[in-house]
Amino acid sequence: MFSTSFLRKFLIVAAAAAVLAACGSSKQKGNFTTKGLRPPEGSCQVKPARIGLAEKIANINEHNGCQVPNAWKVEQLGSVYFSQPAIMNCGMADPLHTWLEDVVQPTAQRSFGESIVSIDVAASYACRPRNNKSGAKMSEHGFGNAIDIAAFTLESGRKVTVEQGWWGSSDERRFLHTVHDRACGEFHTVLGPDSGRDHRDHLHLDLQNRENGSVYCR
Ligand SMILES: [Zn+2]
Repeated sequence: MFSTSFLRKFLIVAAAAAVLAACGSSKQKGNFTTKGLRPPEGSCQVKPARIGLAEKIANINEHNGCQVPNAWKVEQLGSVYFSQPAIMNCGMADPLHTWLEDVVQPTAQRSFGESIVSIDVAASYACRPRNNKSGAKMSEHGFGNAIDIAAFTLESGRKVTVEQGWWGSSDERRFLHTVHDRACGEFHTVLGPDSGRDHRDHLHLDLQNRENGSVYCR
């Protein structure tokens, strides 16, 4: 039987440990002074290797703001292959997988009667300012927090490009506009050709961590 004083001491130690753990995690968050960077640990809900062809690679830190603390190289998610390996923050893989399987594939079936087999990845991790404009804020690509998709290839080999299809035939328009619109929320920023010339030929999806939690889709 534990004495009351032992129990009281135990509870005080347990409470102190809980406070320390909370301080530890908030301190860890505070290390990420760059606003766009998601905390890497909590954001990785699913190991990318469980949902596709993916491997963990060395952390990236270019000592100029560009960094991916939990970097993965992803070559396939679910049933969709990538035209080139995408380097991304671990936290990107799960929403991207969800969007491909739950939005892109059913929309492809409805629009074309067939599935998507691959996407053309125009960019993933890239250490650059937004829209490549010098002096602009760091792009989410600099945190491995973004992917640019230029085209979707169907089982038949037909390729639906953002550049042609966005303003193209009714089935391609419907497909591209739907997958763009329904990426909003799963991703925090979704940009396509309607957002301006910088995105005339690709969809940009990112997980920008805005202070007010808002999303921007255009
Ligand atoms: Zn982009």
